[in-house]
Amino acid sequence: MPIYEYEHVDSSCVRGKIFEFKQSINDPRLRQCPTCNGILRKRISQVAFSIPKTNTDYRNLGFTKLVKRDNGVYENMTRRDGESRYMVNGKPETAPDFSKTIND
Ligand SMILES: [Zn+2]
Repeated sequence: MPIYEYEHVDSSCVRGKIFEFKQSINDPRLRQCPTCNGILRKRISQVAFSIPKTNTDYRNLGFTKLVKRDNGVYENMTRRDGESRYMVNGKPETAPDFSKTIND
């Protein structure tokens, strides 16, 4: 389960002004502190974001990264088995096979 950061808007309590709280992504965000009932706001946590750095990271996350190499020519930096290295404008057979990455 992901960890979210909440901050007490007014006072603080034994949890601290800012505290982490583990909950399902389907759970509603906390509005009140479970300890002191103080009003909370959700913080944008640094740990919530993991920025992909390599082309392999992008591929593993299901992204396709295209880099323009020429007019109408794009290199597929995240190509998977069977995919063309270059995507050429007007040649749909060179486009990435999205059926391998999009499941729903
Ligand atoms: Zn509290």
